[in-house]
Amino acid sequence: MCLAFVHSPGWSEPTPLVGVFEDRHRRFASGTVVPTVTLRAAIASLLVVVLLAASASAEPARRTPPTSLADLSADVVRALADYHATLERARPSYEAHVQAVAAAVAERRALYEAGAVAASAMEEAERALADAQQALAEHLEAIEEAERMLSESVLHERLARLMPLPPGRYEDASGLVRYAGTTRWSLRDLGELKAAFSRAFGRPLPVSAVGQTRVHDRLGLDHRNAVDVAVHPDSAEGRWLMAHLREAGVPFIGLREAIPGSATGAHVHVGPTSPRLHAR
Ligand SMILES: [Zn+2]
Repeated sequence: MCLAFVHSPGWSEPTPLVGVFEDRHRRFASGTVVPTVTLRAAIASLLVVVLLAASASAEPARRTPPTSLADLSADVVRALADYHATLERARPSYEAHVQAVAAAVAERRALYEAGAVAASAMEEAERALADAQQALAEHLEAIEEAERMLSESVLHERLARLMPLPPGRYEDASGLVRYAGTTRWSLRDLGELKAAFSRAFGRPLPVSAVGQTRVHDRLGLDHRNAVDVAVHPDSAEGRWLMAHLREAGVPFIGLREAIPGSATGAHVHVGPTSPRLHAR
């Protein structure tokens, strides 16, 4: 989490992460599989610890070494990984529910066509199916958002443990491929990058985030001038992208994995990294 990157004491209310979890748990309140109280309590107490440490670091007289904040951000990464795993565990029950309701709809349709049930009963079954499909879609969306949050948190947690690179320097270490860049990058340059990628691969650049998104807001990250591209740094597309950016002097960071042993969360962040927590 970005709290590892608080360098100025100007921030005040970095609690958006709590909102994310609460939103999700409210959403699953009618379900049967997602534990709510324990996880929410764990996240809340974790954030209290992180915020206290961050406040302490903002006082010049009590300077906290950056590593301690990096350690705390690692705790948040673990909490996010647990949250993501919890959502993943619940996924099969949402999928099974859709299948069961779809089978019931098919059965009822046969009865309806045979004249054995009323149209209202058919409509009721179809509404139940639409509800189940909606619940599954929202769950998948929650998983995707949790992946993006985890991915960004892991990237910044690792970055917090590394020295900044001087302009023009390239480094491949700690699961990150970094290039410090020699030119300014802005979102206005995205069109040229998209065109070059399409020429090279015959498909659109798989952009997963352009500029500031809800995920970045909630993590307190300034992503206004950055773009995330959903390619693995070691894939042909990832290697091409990083070589292209390096040639153009554009800074980037490639993340190989957000969950150990899985390619989940791998991406290339294009543009500057702004580690400060901005006020919301
Ligand atoms: Zn990014």
